[in-house]
Amino acid sequence: MPSQVNPQKCSGCGTCAEKCPEEAITMDLIPYVDPDKCTECGICVIICQYGARDIEEVMKYVNRMASH
Ligand code: SF4
Ligand code: SF4
Repeated sequence: MPSQVNPQKCSGCGTCAEKCPEEAITMDLIPYVDPDKCTECGICVIICQYGARDIEEVMKYVNRMASH
């Protein structure tokens, strides 16, 4: 799930919340993802400059996309 944010890496910059096309992310020091809104597009994972969203998660998205 994109909601898996590593709180030790997250700077709280809010970029992922700004860029989420579904407005699924709200900031509360770290991002909270509303699972009802999130389409798992993966943008927030790719966009995070701090690697707070794991590369393994990215690969899961890539694989998921490829299998569709
Ligand atoms: S873009 Fe990355 S560092 Fe910034 S708030 Fe989102 S998860 Fe945290
Ligand atoms: S995966 Fe896409 S829809 Fe879900 S929180 Fe991230 S940017 Fe928003």
